Amino acid sequence: MNRPAEALLTALLAAHRQGRRLALLFDYDGTLTPLQPHPDLARLDPSARRLLERLARRPQIALGFLSGRTLKELQTLVALPEAYYAGTTGLELDLRGQRVVHPEAPNIAPSLAQLGQRLQRILPAYSGAWLEDKQWGLTVHYRAVQPDRIAALQTELQDVAESSLEQFRFIEGPRAVEIIPRLGWSKATAVDFILEALQQNLPSPVSGEGPGVRANTDDMVILPFYAGDSVNDEDAMEKVNSLGGLSVGVGPQAPPAAAYRLPNPVALHDLLTRFEKSL
Ligand SMILES: [Mg+2]
Repeated sequence: MNRPAEALLTALLAAHRQGRRLALLFDYDGTLTPLQPHPDLARLDPSARRLLERLARRPQIALGFLSGRTLKELQTLVALPEAYYAGTTGLELDLRGQRVVHPEAPNIAPSLAQLGQRLQRILPAYSGAWLEDKQWGLTVHYRAVQPDRIAALQTELQDVAESSLEQFRFIEGPRAVEIIPRLGWSKATAVDFILEALQQNLPSPVSGEGPGVRANTDDMVILPFYAGDSVNDEDAMEKVNSLGGLSVGVGPQAPPAAAYRLPNPVALHDLLTRFEKSL
């Protein structure tokens, strides 16, 4: 942990020079954009989008975006057609035109609606808290709640979480809790989906092993890179670590699984700028 930007740039450039394909995967909020008082305000900086667009056009580089936001919202915010997307913490994906939704997701709708109603009864006592209904998941946002009310709200949410643990994961984010049906899909499985789709699109497989991502080999064709800022990025980082890739924590709340550290989204932008200039 805590390896600096310099080492990260060196690792990216070395992989590129070895002819490996780079899968540059990013969380959105807090990673590509600074956290905002309201999620509607988290817009991607135009210069960052242009940089990502130029990187995506390079044949050796593929881009992916993984978020707790809905797939539709994420695609609207990032707005890069040549990319892979995973929304609702990996439950819905767009693999460059191939749409994938967890087949069990529709069956969970009644219990999700019930849980939403339960939360709606709690939240009015906490001014500034609100519930986002994401079709396949829920998010309780509390960035605008008075600081002295937050602990009480967290305790109430914890009670709800404990009584619905079998069906739902409650993932603590920066002043928000994501609630995702426990269906076995996550940001980690989204990383797998994206890498597998990429592997299948490679012009010539290196050996006769066929599709699938080979782990822990120096000659792995694709090098995954994942940048995230909070605990909901931890499983994706662990996945990328297990594949010998580069996991990058952005900001002070990044999970300990991150092998490299950057202080904020601007530092990530700077790193990618320097990477592009060195290509
Ligand atoms: Mg984030």
